[in-house]
Amino acid sequence: MDYRKLAELIFPDIKGTIAELEERFPKRQLPDGAKVTRFAPSPTGYMHIGGLYAAMISRKIAKQSGGVFYLRIEDTDKKREVEDGVNEIIRSLKQFDLEFDEGPFDGGETIYAPYKQSERKEIYQICVKELMQKGLAYPCFCTANELDEIRRKQEEAKEDIGYYGKYAISRNLTYDEIEEKINAGVPYVVRLKSPGTSGNYVRYTDDIRGNIDMPENIMDIVLLKSDGIPTYHFAHAVDDHFMRTNLVIRGDEWLASYPLHKQLFEICGFELPEYVHISPIMKAEGNGKRKLSKRKDPEAAVGFYLEEGYPSESVLEYLMTIANSNYEEWHMANADKTIDDFVLSLSKMPVSGALFDMVKLNDVSKEMISSFTVDACYDKIVAWAKVYDEKLYEFAVSRKADFIKTIELWKMAGNKARKDVAKWSDLTSMFEYLYVSDSELNLTYEIDEKYTAEQLKEVIEEYQKDMFLDSDDWFGQMKEMGEKLGYCPNVKEYKKNPEGYKGSITDICTIVRVAITGRKNSPDLFTIMNVIGEDRTKQRLVRFLDAVK
Ligand code: GLU
Repeated sequence: MDYRKLAELIFPDIKGTIAELEERFPKRQLPDGAKVTRFAPSPTGYMHIGGLYAAMISRKIAKQSGGVFYLRIEDTDKKREVEDGVNEIIRSLKQFDLEFDEGPFDGGETIYAPYKQSERKEIYQICVKELMQKGLAYPCFCTANELDEIRRKQEEAKEDIGYYGKYAISRNLTYDEIEEKINAGVPYVVRLKSPGTSGNYVRYTDDIRGNIDMPENIMDIVLLKSDGIPTYHFAHAVDDHFMRTNLVIRGDEWLASYPLHKQLFEICGFELPEYVHISPIMKAEGNGKRKLSKRKDPEAAVGFYLEEGYPSESVLEYLMTIANSNYEEWHMANADKTIDDFVLSLSKMPVSGALFDMVKLNDVSKEMISSFTVDACYDKIVAWAKVYDEKLYEFAVSRKADFIKTIELWKMAGNKARKDVAKWSDLTSMFEYLYVSDSELNLTYEIDEKYTAEQLKEVIEEYQKDMFLDSDDWFGQMKEMGEKLGYCPNVKEYKKNPEGYKGSITDICTIVRVAITGRKNSPDLFTIMNVIGEDRTKQRLVRFLDAVK
């Protein structure tokens, strides 16, 4: 067979060569040890937390080695693509502060562009044409029925399933047969003519898994689909080579394809990059664990964390504890440092799936939020509420000073920073008494059973007479008021003689607090009432009396 003639027949309009591509996309000039890594998602409109995890790891490894981290969009499967999918990916990653050095966005395009596979068709075809010229690729006209038939025979004979060896019937077509089919417009794919030998092994080595020996690839896999678009296998080899990736970090579902990928690099004459396969994030179920599922687990989607209002810092820090279990210890010993100072080690990554633990995420996040300044909290809450809680947003923006005061009060209990908020949506139940309009507010009163309805009424009716909102000494006034009703103004004294009183000043404050906020705990009540305002505070008392009648 004249392979050159065949390549001309199949790719009459493709002119370039691999050597020209090598020149067009030259090796990167980077310091020794610098890693070029990438995040290569498909724009399916859904970003999995595992994707964020992989992006974080790839970016970290690139950054800490003085290398480059880029975004490549793998959009060769048009059926799965959604509108705005690319922007969605870029937006999500930005929201988690995972910025790229290069990619298909304003300012991200370099000589290695285009970064979208759909725009690189010619590059792939140049490579396939050259493989065909060398007799390493051929057109295959097999129909779906013929492929089914092959599979049936293989299943019957208990042989490996696939297009290879004696089953690879299109390998044997003559030039004339091929030309006839092409001229007749018969659809075809282009397959690899695998040079692999059954029984041979290739060795895979990475920092996480050590050495693994796997059978060499013998399958004549599809390089170009019938629309001329490559499969993932081929596209990634071409792209990682010409984008000069030297470390491919990807999910371990691709580990089994390593022998094929190694072969593709070799036959194209490309230097093989290093590979690292990371294990997925799992969820505990029964006694076992399973992958986080898009269908069953809301927390599988990155959107979940954004919607709930987990600060990006918390999510990244939590993911880092999964990636390297020594991170926490490091962080405790280096409290003044941030995740950016930590050196991630691929060899310390988990080999089998790490468990995702929501309780742990919440703990990490509470700690993180308590470390934010009041101003940082304000900015982050506003940014979150703008998208997810209209009422909180309006309140936070139109009553900025009041809201900041509330954050200050909530954040600090005495001199210690509180750690009771893991995500901004927690504020919805915590502070709704502040910002939801009275007509829409639905307070459930946390009333302790020890109080009788009579007692509650008596206290609130007394408080209705004067709420002391202008007073310099609200607490002193409350003590006086309580004393008049038979409540001890001094807690210690009350404890010594509980029979002598109806209760203490603590009870007086709790009853008023519940009447106004619905809650047993709130930041400083005097400030809260001033933020709510006198009229609304009065209305709350009326409302409470109605409720306990
Ligand atoms: N598009 C592939 C995926 O989403 C990328 C795998 C890789 O990183 O090479 O699984």
